[in-house]
Amino acid sequence: MSVEKVLKLIKDEEVKVVDLRFVDLLGTWQHFSVPAHVIEEDTFTEGLGFDGSSIRGWQSINESDMLVVPDADSAFLDPFTEVTTLNMVCCILDPITKQPYPKHPRYIAYKAQEYLKSTGIADTAYFGPELEFFILDSIRYDIKQNASYYYLDSQEGIWNSGKDEEPNLGYKIRNKEGYFPVAPTDSLQDLRTEMILNLEKVGIEVETHHHEVATAGQCEIDMKFDTLLNMADKVLKYKYIVKNTAAMYGKTVTFMPKPIFGDNGTGMHSHQSLWKDGKPLFAGNLYAGLSEIAMYYMGGIIKHGKAIAAFTNPTVNSYKRLVPGFEAPINLAYSSRNRSAALRIPMYSSSPKAKRVEVRFPDPSSNPYLAFSAMLMAGIDGILNKIDPGEPLDKNIYDLPPQELANVPKAPGSLEEALQALEDDHEFLLKGDVFSEDLIKTWIDYKKEKELKPYSMSINPIEFFMYFDV
Ligand code: GLN
Ligand code: MG
Ligand code: MG
Ligand code: MG
Repeated sequence: MSVEKVLKLIKDEEVKVVDLRFVDLLGTWQHFSVPAHVIEEDTFTEGLGFDGSSIRGWQSINESDMLVVPDADSAFLDPFTEVTTLNMVCCILDPITKQPYPKHPRYIAYKAQEYLKSTGIADTAYFGPELEFFILDSIRYDIKQNASYYYLDSQEGIWNSGKDEEPNLGYKIRNKEGYFPVAPTDSLQDLRTEMILNLEKVGIEVETHHHEVATAGQCEIDMKFDTLLNMADKVLKYKYIVKNTAAMYGKTVTFMPKPIFGDNGTGMHSHQSLWKDGKPLFAGNLYAGLSEIAMYYMGGIIKHGKAIAAFTNPTVNSYKRLVPGFEAPINLAYSSRNRSAALRIPMYSSSPKAKRVEVRFPDPSSNPYLAFSAMLMAGIDGILNKIDPGEPLDKNIYDLPPQELANVPKAPGSLEEALQALEDDHEFLLKGDVFSEDLIKTWIDYKKEKELKPYSMSINPIEFFMYFDV
């Protein structure tokens, strides 16, 4: 949308308030509003001031003045406010130099796209993330109870959750059976439909919605693919729409990667492909119909997998999802069939345009601008350095004996391990000044200080079960 169109929309729709939003370091929209008359033509070049000192991971208090410059293209009418409100996503500028703020994740995504073009490999990177989430009020057992009740599964030899401890005296429908049975097992059809109608209202093209495999309450809505930066914008818009649609019905949505012990977690499988001059570059006649470029792209993702996990799986909770048995990857390997592999090549279509790589380890606790950019940078590094992705792993990785997996690289087992990998391996992210040393250091320090440290000092309910009577 052009600036004139935005100004006309404000007039035509009698917009009263304009809400300016931008992404913080961790991937959450922050916002403030102005009366609509404040927005003029030069707002789109001069910007509006705000205090950036309280934004997580940004400026210190003595240099906290910043400018937001709205991106006219991003304008959309808010479907939830009572007073007509127009939302716009903003760029962040330094008020003195008028340069983009280097720790603004959206600027990093912009630079990643520019860097791709500058290499001459491709002009466009498409991303298609599949976001999953839980609608919590619909879960038919008490999640708090689940968190504090464990028993030792004698067959599996592991601690299991006590979610089935109550006898089914009321002949209730089972929480989980089959993949995604119709209603009444699926009680969220109408709510998901309302979510996709709201998504389409704000300009997001939806491909499908369905219940997911975990216990009643896990859902998935898939968007049509888009370019890296546009898609990262859409992920935040998506979370806003999905959470607020649920809130209208008194329900809560969580994108936490593993909210329920012993059940499937929540992923953000990210389909990706490179294009040049309108032609797809990932189709060829190598394994699973891939091109050499696609193979090297996967080589880069596998080589740098542990380091990029610090962005694609950036929470303590992320690593509780990456465990055997729940369709989430544990090894950094590729396959056309195997959903236990970190990279899958979907075979639904034989069209070269549909040829893509699905990276399955990311989860939606990530900041999509940083996660997509990190994956693209790893892929580019793979292509530039002709990194061999190794042999495909067309077997169920969960069932393989350890010796067969000895040489297959593993996804990190913890946030600590991923942050260490990022510290040791981030040269590829600095190319083209896409990520800066400062941003990477800020990220690692923030995660260590604000998440790992309090986590390591807190007490998990299972500790009471295992140790209370020592
Ligand atoms: N929820 C699973 C994950 O954690 C994937 C299940 C699926 O999409 N088939 O990645
Ligand atoms: Mg899916
Ligand atoms: Mg899914
Ligand atoms: Mg998938």
